[in-house]
Amino acid sequence: MSKVWFVGAGPGDPELLTLKAQRLISEADAILYAGSLVSEAAMTWAKESCAIQDSKGMTLEQICDWLISKAKGNANVLRLQTGDPGLYGALIEMIQPLDKAGIEVAVVPGVTSAMASAAAAAETLTLPEVTQTVIFSRVEGRTPMPEGESLDELAAHHCTLCLYLSITLLKKIQTSLVAAGWSNQSPILVVYKASWPGEEQIIRGTVENIRDKCKQAGINSQAMIIASPTIGSRDWPELKKSKLYDANFTHRFRKAEKT
Ligand code: SAH
Repeated sequence: MSKVWFVGAGPGDPELLTLKAQRLISEADAILYAGSLVSEAAMTWAKESCAIQDSKGMTLEQICDWLISKAKGNANVLRLQTGDPGLYGALIEMIQPLDKAGIEVAVVPGVTSAMASAAAAAETLTLPEVTQTVIFSRVEGRTPMPEGESLDELAAHHCTLCLYLSITLLKKIQTSLVAAGWSNQSPILVVYKASWPGEEQIIRGTVENIRDKCKQAGINSQAMIIASPTIGSRDWPELKKSKLYDANFTHRFRKAEKT
């Protein structure tokens, strides 16, 4: 019996697959990919004989049965997930039935869409003395949020918030940010299909107008929302610079020029 690999396919651009993901795709006998978000271009490295299946219309049980039957048939099996498999990827729900079936699993990380979105807009998620913390979260829709994780509570930290799966909930986001003390003029970044060649859209707005801007652009799925006091810092006249490159700062690899 062979191993089932859960592989992060990255945010969409096939060039953002890891070398390991690319090698595993080229060696696989069977690939089950999350068709709604994983680019089919990633499959160009697959062998002619590889069984490739889109999981878009499948239930969790069908997905697990498919993976188990291929692994039992001794195939080299890959489950290709969007971004990183450990974020909103139902990873453990899929691994548990494989554990029960005695099938070995391994996980390969991928570039998550929050990072691809920040990169698309040339933004940083941390800045010295502005924020040093990033929260990956989502807003409560049909999936309930655990206690203490409502956006009102998370936003109270005034750090960077990367919100997955929440583009249809922008009204709630506006209300929560304002309730947590963010100004209506705070910048918000929305990136649709970050890194997808020819499809990516970058929308810059504020707490007040981001919902209208997204509506106008027709964006209602596959988008990352980043609310952060760092957004737009490229245009700030003054930055608190990182200590790492400060001439007056000594660290393991460099002595301060003056003390
Ligand atoms: N595991 C994935 C997230 C899966 S949940 C990851 O690490 O990125 C799906 C959500 O991820 C979408 O609703 C959207 O918010 C975000 N997403 C996935 N791909 C994206 C992309 N290319 N651009 C922007 N957001 C994306």
